This record gives sequence, structure tokens and C-alpha cells, in this order.
Amino acid sequence: MRLLVAGLVAWLAVLPAPALAQAPVAMEAEIVRDGDRWTAELRFLRDAPAWVFVRSALTREGERPWRPQSWTVETRGVRLERRGRYDVLVATNGGDVPRRVRVRFTPFTRDLIADYDPALVFTDGSVALYSEQFDAFPFESAAAAARLPIDLAATDVPLSRTRVTFRDDNGRVLHAGRRLASVTIDDDDGSYILFGPLQPIVTDAMAAIIDPALPAWIRATLGRAVPDILDRYTRALGPAPGPKPTIIASWAGPTPGVTSMGGSVLPGIVTMAYEGSGVTQETPQARSYGLWFIAHETAHFWLGQAVRYQYSREAWIYEGGADLIAFRTVAEVDPDYDWRGALNQSIADCAALASNRGIASAEDRNEQRAYYACGAVFGLVAEAASRRPFIAFIRDLIDANRTDRIINRAEWLAALDRVSGDRSLSRDIGILLDRGAADPKATIAGLFRRAGVRFARGADGLPRLL
Ligand SMILES: [Zn+2]
Repeated sequence: MRLLVAGLVAWLAVLPAPALAQAPVAMEAEIVRDGDRWTAELRFLRDAPAWVFVRSALTREGERPWRPQSWTVETRGVRLERRGRYDVLVATNGGDVPRRVRVRFTPFTRDLIADYDPALVFTDGSVALYSEQFDAFPFESAAAAARLPIDLAATDVPLSRTRVTFRDDNGRVLHAGRRLASVTIDDDDGSYILFGPLQPIVTDAMAAIIDPALPAWIRATLGRAVPDILDRYTRALGPAPGPKPTIIASWAGPTPGVTSMGGSVLPGIVTMAYEGSGVTQETPQARSYGLWFIAHETAHFWLGQAVRYQYSREAWIYEGGADLIAFRTVAEVDPDYDWRGALNQSIADCAALASNRGIASAEDRNEQRAYYACGAVFGLVAEAASRRPFIAFIRDLIDANRTDRIINRAEWLAALDRVSGDRSLSRDIGILLDRGAADPKATIAGLFRRAGVRFARGADGLPRLL
């Protein structure tokens, strides 16, 4: 049985919104659905030899670029190329890309590494498109684009915005809870636009767009657990920012041998994609995993939206934080939940992924799991040192940063210093972040011992919670 785990905070939404909001619009795109035919008309507002697509993650399976599998450039003399970490549009004659480029595409629904699925497809034919998949910026050359890092915020690439319009020739589209003839977006936050007849279910706590073919027990769990968990978080963390949270739950069918739940979070939206024969029946394992999944993703309404990261190398604060909050919350909701087993897995994974390499740079190696695992381990240290629930440690950090809406590494470590009175904890975490350790098991055991985490080391040297 395959168990896929995918959860992510706004992975490339790394800039505080105001910076990008003031940037000029360099490109417009019109996305039109006509039945099964999807087209994107791209209009570039300036001349450039290369247009670089911001969202250029690889597929989780096979680690390949997704656009060549989904897009067909219909305009002659224009080609889509992979350069380094990015998909780039170039002119075949080496000059500037024509100002107008037409693309035909098939909505791409497979999982990407640490990025939003470009499309979510529902069994009634409805399709949700991720708005930022069309965003590109002009660049000096395709060759230079090959040297761009994954985190554009850490570069001096001039900011620009893309204005994207979505339209369905045969109906209205749904955005932010409203049905409209067309939707135009030009901010940096990204969203999903729903094409097709699927109707949202609206309650006091949330709005939900749920595939009608999703297994009944998952529908029931969503209806019960999401309001319960949101309520617990609101009491512990304060109100969620922005409008009523929207859950988009899609169902890819009972693929044999697959047990898959993958999620992502956008402003006001959590997406949850379910797939496989392994989730059609409620089993104890599927139930507890499903609860963890909901608890992790909805924690991002706070850790990821109320506050978010400035640099993606600080994702450990958000992913590990959401994981530890979820482990603790599911243990409250479901007394049978094996939270100890879940955290011991985090410890084991963190130790493996911090061996002689820094956790902060894990994204450069496609080892994003390190952010989840080590972030949860550091959370355990903060929890034990503060002698309060971890969620209270996070609430203090959120409250202190509601204005700039960013918790960075220095702020997190300073908060640890305050609650622990022991600067050796933040020092050792800093070392794990920057360069890892020759023996991470010993480093983690040392952190646990000084913070007061109850644990024992196994014969393999791994700390295990008691
Ligand atoms: Zn996450």
C-alpha cells in the first residue's frame, strides 16, 4: 500500500503582499473553458527574450516538469523550455517572444512537489484551476533563467504582476463564494477558480466544495471534524484571518493499491485531494490519518495565513508547527490516536534528514519532509521548555506578529530563549538548521534532555517519546 503525504503552506508566496501589490502588471492572460477545450491567451506588455513561469515545480511522481505534459503552444515561433528550476517561454529565432501567445491545455491534476496542484477535477465534470499557474515575469535570457534559485524573494529579480481573467463559455465561474460571468485576479496570493456546476455547502463555520462521489465516511468526517477542529483552533489561537474558511475536497477515484490524501492552503482556502482504494472504507488507520490531515491543513489558516514565512527556508516553522498542533489536536479528538508513533516518526525522519546537512536548505535537495519532521521536533523542545501546550507558544508568536504577519527564524528562536532561559537550545537548533550534525540523534537527545521532553533512546540511538 502506498501512502502519499502532501501538505504545504503557501510555498512560493514568499513576499509580503504589499511589495508585490505595488509592482507593475507585465503580462495579462485570458483563460477560457469551452466544454473540454481549454485555452490560455497570453499577452505580454513588454518585449523580453524570455518569460519565466513562477510556478514551475516538478511532479511528485517522476520529478518532471508538468507544463510539457499539459500545455501545447499554438503560436508559431514560440517554444516552452525547461531551464534550471523554471519553465520558460522563448522565441525559436532567439529574439523577443511575440507579444501574444496562444496555449491550449489539459487541466493538470497530478501532485507537484511542494506546490499547488494546477487543477482539481471533480467527478461531476467541475474543474478548479489554480490561478497562479499562468503567472510569468520577463527576464534577460533563457540561459540566465537557468541560474535562478527556487526562492525568487532571495534574488533581485524585479517584481511584476500577471493579470489573469477566467471565463467559461457555457456558464459562470465560482470565486470566493460568488458565481460570476468572469473573474480577474492580479494579486500575488493565488486562488482556485471553479468551473462547472458543483455547489458549495455553506455552514456557520465554513464553506465546503465537496466532490459528490467522495466516500461517505470522508464526507461525514469533513462535516463533523472540520467545524470541531476550527472551533478548537479559534479558542486556542484567536480568530482565523479573512473571510469564512473554504474547504475544497476532491476525489480522484478508488485507484487500486493507492491510499492518498494531499492538501494545500491558500488565503481562505484549504484543498484536500483524496484518492485510492485504501480510503474507500473507514479503518482505524484511515480515520486517524484523515483527522491528522484535516487538523494539519486547517492549522494553516493560522500558521500560513495569519502569519506566513518570508523565506521558504523557514518553512519548518509553519509545516512542523502545523504538524505538532495537529498531532496534539487529533489526540484530543480521538483518544485512540497514536500521537506518540506519529511524533517518533518525525524524530526518526528529522535525524535522518539532518545528517551532515542543514535543514534550512532542504528544499534545494527536494527534502521538504525535513521541514515537517524537524519543525515538529523543535516544537517539542519549545513545548517542554515552556511547560505549556505548544499551541500556546504559537499563539504568543502569532499575537506578537499580527502586524507584519511574518514569524521568522530569529523571532521563533528568541521566543524559545524567553520560555526556556537556556540559550543552548536555540544555539543547537540553529546549528541543525544551518549545517546539520554528524550525529543528529545525539543532538536531538541533548535538546530533549535539557528542555525536559520525556524520552528514552533506543538501541539504534534514536530518541523515542515515553
Ligand atoms: Zn502543511
